[in-house]
Amino acid sequence: MDLNLQNYSTFKVGGRAYRILNIRTENDIFSALAYATKCEKPLIVIGDGSNSIFSDEPELFVIGHMQMKGIYIKEEDEGYSLVRAAAGESWDHLVSHAIENGLSGIEALSGIPGTVGAAPIQNIGAYGTELSDTLVKVSVYDIEHKRFRTFSKEQCELSYRDSIFKKNPGKYIVTEITLRLSKSKPKVPSYASLAGKFPSDDTEAEVTAEQIRKAVLETRTTKLPDPKTIPNCGSFFKNPIISEEQFKTVQAAHPEIPSFETESGDIKLYAGWLIEHADYQSVETDRVGFHDANKLVLINKGGATFEDLITVASFIQKNVFDRFGVEIEPEPNFFV
Ligand code: FAD
Ligand code: NAP
Repeated sequence: MDLNLQNYSTFKVGGRAYRILNIRTENDIFSALAYATKCEKPLIVIGDGSNSIFSDEPELFVIGHMQMKGIYIKEEDEGYSLVRAAAGESWDHLVSHAIENGLSGIEALSGIPGTVGAAPIQNIGAYGTELSDTLVKVSVYDIEHKRFRTFSKEQCELSYRDSIFKKNPGKYIVTEITLRLSKSKPKVPSYASLAGKFPSDDTEAEVTAEQIRKAVLETRTTKLPDPKTIPNCGSFFKNPIISEEQFKTVQAAHPEIPSFETESGDIKLYAGWLIEHADYQSVETDRVGFHDANKLVLINKGGATFEDLITVASFIQKNVFDRFGVEIEPEPNFFV
């Protein structure tokens, strides 16, 4: 079996796994845990590795490759259906399947790489929609308490690119999620990057979920590198969210800075803009660089190691802090 973790991470860095085990059933979870315990190695469950970065050091982990399958749609009432999807399903397949079945609510999340089971880990989001908008519950295996259990949406503690699962790595294995999707017309995303893509920019207009999916997929193709040809893990940093008070100081020094008010009244800054305006060219190396259309996306130009990536990422954080006084945090999950 291929144990090279570079083939299990879309950024293509990482050493050799101790063992990689497929997880297709609940019984496979028990076998993988028993094996990892016997070998005294941590069990790391992954999907498609599009948000996972592994250390170069060999044989650190037993990897559980989540492959549980199944999508079930059950009518809840006249307006909504409940959709259960197993953790190993492709997220984008779930989106297209829901749309084919006349359901809306996740169409703006079209084209996000990865699996269903990883979606709640960072509460995936795009174009103003987050998983939390439609999530009902998450089924998991609780490793510490040795039992299957269900987390309601509230118990998942979902926030911007975060959740109870991301805060507690290695504690829960997601087996299934349940979404509540609408049979009504979808909400039209109001992001400027999608402007002109719909028959009308009026957010109340009649736009179908298929049209939103098409617009999102077209836009993503122009702005994001395909990991199959250019290794990357999407946005490398989260957008920083700062207090209004801190924002006033930053804005006074940099009046042109783009900003978005959040529901809580705090201010979200665009990390890609901060990086682009903080001497990003100086940190690029032969092996780690930036995607042309989006400085938030770091790319492996070929042969990059974990250390190469971390070094460049640290310089980016320093440059942004030195220029704007704002800290930016990485978004992917690191396994070291
Ligand atoms: P992996 O990388 O395999 O795993 C991610 C994390 O979840 C790891 O900590 C892993 O241990 C854990 N995990 C995975 N499966 C399970 C499970 N079953 N049980 C417990 N833990 C699990 N993200 C967005 O939010 N919005 C975007 O628009 C977006 N666009 C992207 C575009 C590109 C080109 C790329 C490369 C990435 C993008 N991402 C985006 C990030 C990424 O696609 C998502 O985070 C996605 O949910 C990761 O899925 P995965 O199966 O690849 O996860
Ligand atoms: P974009 O639409 O050009 O927007 C640039 C940035 O400004 C984004 O970070 C976005 O925040 C913010 N923004 C724009 N319009 C906004 C509005 N009306 N309200 C609040 N915030 C707004 O971004 P892009 O790079 O092409 O990506 C498109 C979408 O896909 C974004 O939502 C992005 O988060 C998502 N995406 C995520 C990843 C990942 O790996 N996490 C990778 C690629 C794309 P938000 O990021 O908070 O939306």
